[in-house]
Amino acid sequence: MTVLWIGDVRSADIDTVGGKAASLGELTEAGLPVPPGFVVTAETYRTFLETTGIGSEIFDALAVDDDGLAEAAERARELVVETPVPEAVREEILAAYGDLGGLADTEPDDQSEPFVAVRSSATAEDLPDASFAGQYETILNVTEEDLLDRVKECWASLFSERAVHYRNTHGFDHDDVDVAVVVQQMVDADKSGVMFTRHPSTGDRQMIVESAWGLGEAVVSGMVSPDHYEIDPETATIVESTIADKKQQMIKDPETGETALQPVGDERRTERVVTDAEIERLVELGRRVEDHYGEPQDVEWALVEGELFMLQSRPITTISEAGDSETVQETDATQGGDETAGRPGQTAVDGGGDQQVTEADADSETDDGVLVRGVSASPGTASGEVRLITKLDHLDQVTEGDVLVSTMTTPDMVPAMQRAAAIVTDEGGMTSHSAIVSREMGVPAIVGTRTATDVLKPGQQVTVDGEMGTVTEGGPEEDEAAAEEYDPVESVRPQTPVKPMTATEVKVNLSIPEAAERAAATGADGVGLLRMEHMVISLGKTPEQYIADHGENAFIDELVDGVRTVAEAFYPRPVRARTLDAPTDEFRDLQGGSDEPHEHNPMLGYRGIRRSLDKPAPFRCELRAFKRLFDAGYDNVELMLPLVNDAEDVERAKLLMEEVGIDPAKSRWGVMVETPASALLIEEIAAEGIDFVSFGTNDLTQYTLAVDRNNEHVVDRFDELHPGVLSLIETTIETCRELGVDTSICGQAASKSDMVDFLVEQGISSISANIDAVRDVQHEVKRVEQKLLLDSVR
Ligand code: PEP
Ligand code: MG
Repeated sequence: MTVLWIGDVRSADIDTVGGKAASLGELTEAGLPVPPGFVVTAETYRTFLETTGIGSEIFDALAVDDDGLAEAAERARELVVETPVPEAVREEILAAYGDLGGLADTEPDDQSEPFVAVRSSATAEDLPDASFAGQYETILNVTEEDLLDRVKECWASLFSERAVHYRNTHGFDHDDVDVAVVVQQMVDADKSGVMFTRHPSTGDRQMIVESAWGLGEAVVSGMVSPDHYEIDPETATIVESTIADKKQQMIKDPETGETALQPVGDERRTERVVTDAEIERLVELGRRVEDHYGEPQDVEWALVEGELFMLQSRPITTISEAGDSETVQETDATQGGDETAGRPGQTAVDGGGDQQVTEADADSETDDGVLVRGVSASPGTASGEVRLITKLDHLDQVTEGDVLVSTMTTPDMVPAMQRAAAIVTDEGGMTSHSAIVSREMGVPAIVGTRTATDVLKPGQQVTVDGEMGTVTEGGPEEDEAAAEEYDPVESVRPQTPVKPMTATEVKVNLSIPEAAERAAATGADGVGLLRMEHMVISLGKTPEQYIADHGENAFIDELVDGVRTVAEAFYPRPVRARTLDAPTDEFRDLQGGSDEPHEHNPMLGYRGIRRSLDKPAPFRCELRAFKRLFDAGYDNVELMLPLVNDAEDVERAKLLMEEVGIDPAKSRWGVMVETPASALLIEEIAAEGIDFVSFGTNDLTQYTLAVDRNNEHVVDRFDELHPGVLSLIETTIETCRELGVDTSICGQAASKSDMVDFLVEQGISSISANIDAVRDVQHEVKRVEQKLLLDSVR
């Protein structure tokens, strides 16, 4: 059967039509309002591969190692797209499209052909534990002329580099996955969104609706922050709502017929999207869908000229066991699902972010066997034997469960840090390498102790309390045994969308791709900062040395692999990767590091965009890595430039982007605001066409206050909330809002509640926090947003 009508397919046909189409069939049969359409079956795809003979060529070519994969995948896509569809198949598809035109709800005198949405429906897509969701193509507003090409694009999307890589890493055979294609009448939504028929974490009898203007793709892909309503289904009334600033909407351009993101008019940006009457209809629809499936559902819906349509329905897979017993489901997202779980005594948005041990801490710990104290860099408590590391070749002495003690950690130590039960260093602050990496790995850590390498003795049994910032003699107390198991990510599970829904996006910072899955499990709205220098430094060589030894391609491959791991874990949530920004002293210990200049103060020196523009060869490789990722379909990757001062820096970087084939108008890119100059000159910088800025408050603070962020003698003067710093942030946000440029923060201060309050009040678009602080920041953002709303109506 080449095509099947959606109304004729059922769950039992899933192997032929894929999960998406089977579900649409079920809903149509139940009398629910699903736009009409048909499915080009998986057999049709198979027959196409077999009768044209391209199947064996494709699968043989894909049996290569990782190095040849990108090329084999590209060849496979080319073959699918360029090979003509057999005539009989072509005729059947076009005949079904003609019939769809007859069904389409067009005006009597409307002679135009119907617009359809063409979506792939992979036969393995919605299997539990193997979610391919989001990996395949969806093309909107297609007409007869392009229909067959678009169907072939859906088939070809099985061979995007990302999909191929995913199947390889998850052990799926390329030959075992088929794809059906849904061709469905387009719904030109005025409003759309999602609806959870029960509370997605507790299972309570409360419905959640999120909505925005235009087509739902903008909401689902995270491009637009939607309104959020919590609804009592008994009375069909809103009990709580957050109205977002909906800056953009995805709509069809009446001239070109193409779907595009367009600005929302000022008067509608903060207007509530759904009316009370529409809420009533959504509640009724939710009840019918839930009755049909017998379990809570997550529904995509659209409203067009008052008519309500359902576009998709899936069971909610995130309800916690602690929730309503009637609705409990077994899912892997239930582990540690208590949203409020956290360490005793943890304040609202602290995230371990204090720079120093407080007086109170010091007093309470006196005479308590404390050997050393320091800055609490990563929470959790662990005990183990001390391993003193003075040289890199001592690293293999650190075995599973040891306490790694060192003057300062370096990126080469990452594998040993991963084995360690806890980490203690003499030097460093909250933003030092050891602090960042240990937080991401969930290993308790204390930095800046000054004396740990003197006081702690090799083989000594100690307990490290990452929260209190103390190292004590001996093993864990009985009642500490449970705390030893503490994993900051467990306290922030389960996954999206079980998190406070906020209009301001809350993202996560990341440095090591190994932590990508942990970071994604926080439910963050994306990665606000991926520090690429950590990927490079862990190669053990400076970029120049690595390129000299292994060639440019090998260097590009390493960067592509690192960023891809993160982009994969977060897809379709955005991942903002930043080009290299390592001070020369961080490169010095690497091979090739002896060529690094000796600088009086590396923080003010040869780093970030200055180095990239001065030495464009390695920078071009970084940009080529981005280009490869964009070409491979990672449309969630964004490019960010560090330490720019003015428009000239940005213009020069942009020219290099263009030189390697990146089209800045078609990619999302932006800059860090880390120097007072960049904040003062933001208007000129924005004129270069950037999409976003991100405040790097670690640097912005040190440069505004002239306080070296790594100098422990002035640590008490390092104040990110200093009025001078806040004033630069405030005026930058204001200018960016006028210019339509998104604003974000990714410095350490994003984990502090006072900073969060200030930024949300200023209207920042997103906040990117450390992995262990994400959940607290989500709650704080929600609290401030609600307060602002209340203030506005009182
Ligand atoms: C910052 O300066 O705040 C920042 C996020 O960048 P880095 O800490 O990597 O300098
Ligand atoms: Mg910085």
